[in-house]
Amino acid sequence: MAIERIYLDWNATAPLLGCARDAMIEALSLPGNPSSVHAEGRSARTLVENARRAVGTLVGASPATVTFTASATEAANHLLSPVYRMGRSPISIGRLYVSAIEHPAIRSGGRFAADQMSEIAVKPSGVIDLGSLTAHLMVHDVTSGLPLVALMLVNNETGIVQPIAEAAAIVHKHGGLLVVDAVQAAGRLPLSLDALGADFLIISAHKIGGPKGIGAAIARGEALMPDPLVRGGGQEKGHRAGTENVAAIAGFGAAARFMAEGLEIRNGEIAAHRDRLEQAMVSAAPDVLIYGRNEQRVANTSFFHLPGLKAETGQIAFDLEGVALSAGAACSSGKVGASHVLTAMGEDAAIGALRLSLGPSTTDAEIDRAIEVFSKVAGRRKLSGQAA
Ligand code: PLP
Repeated sequence: MAIERIYLDWNATAPLLGCARDAMIEALSLPGNPSSVHAEGRSARTLVENARRAVGTLVGASPATVTFTASATEAANHLLSPVYRMGRSPISIGRLYVSAIEHPAIRSGGRFAADQMSEIAVKPSGVIDLGSLTAHLMVHDVTSGLPLVALMLVNNETGIVQPIAEAAAIVHKHGGLLVVDAVQAAGRLPLSLDALGADFLIISAHKIGGPKGIGAAIARGEALMPDPLVRGGGQEKGHRAGTENVAAIAGFGAAARFMAEGLEIRNGEIAAHRDRLEQAMVSAAPDVLIYGRNEQRVANTSFFHLPGLKAETGQIAFDLEGVALSAGAACSSGKVGASHVLTAMGEDAAIGALRLSLGPSTTDAEIDRAIEVFSKVAGRRKLSGQAA
């Protein structure tokens, strides 16, 4: 008998929502190019603009400032630019500052060379060290250009919510710009560009139940924008050339509309599941170390270390029992690398940790089964004194 699969890896990607699938199928049957002026083109344009409104609403921004990109990674590469423009006037950015726990989409620095970048430290708690941010910005060489800071709102491995509003105040005090990676926050926290103090925000459709391969760069206003990464036609007001992926954008919009509603109720249910899971984990294995448990976390994430269990071995053991989880972040190579997040927290990254991440459709029965599998894996580890 085939073993029932339980998907608890929502931070890697969320299953496609039915409403997103329906919107995409409808969009795929439209023949028009959204840049065409005829009726077919206008129908496609309507889908794109409706989606833009939904994405703007989800993050509390004006739709006019939403630029669709092929992924959050592309949005990061677009925004992490040494040259910005205020109208036609170029504005130089002298240096890029990123925290040590950023996703590789940000850590790779976009269009900045490695020697134009500095790393902001992270406290052992997993929270970005604002003292380190201040210290870096105080010695920023303003003659080289403005400082650009890129920070995440929610860490993809620990789920810890970062002090972005406070960071924004520091960045602006030093005349800098702040890019916020809100990929793991969208649909999980109420978002407002203004309340965060972000100058730019990045989100990705596939983390909120939309399709893979579509993201957005969202600006606080339209006056200051980066030099475009993808040049060509005038699509997306010249900020991102190329005929729009209408179906993916329509799916993104549908998922954003879905996620903008009922956030509190959804979070309450997810938190109840996660908390029950963690309580059971502690009962079954009192030596389990759950990261960020005393910090503000999003409701869906549990990142833990089981002494004596290598992350890679643990991931395989859960998978064989039908439970999909991650050993830290989903690595593009499929291999389990040492977690740079654990390293930044001063942990021994080689020991590794596992991440269970839940979603709105996670059920009680799935949590029961995850607890069963956790107990089994933890118990086997004890029996053998080694990895399960
Ligand atoms: N930022 C964070 C925090 C993420 O978790 C991810 C995806 O894992 C990304 C950026 C990149 O998103 P995308 O897959 O759309 O490029």
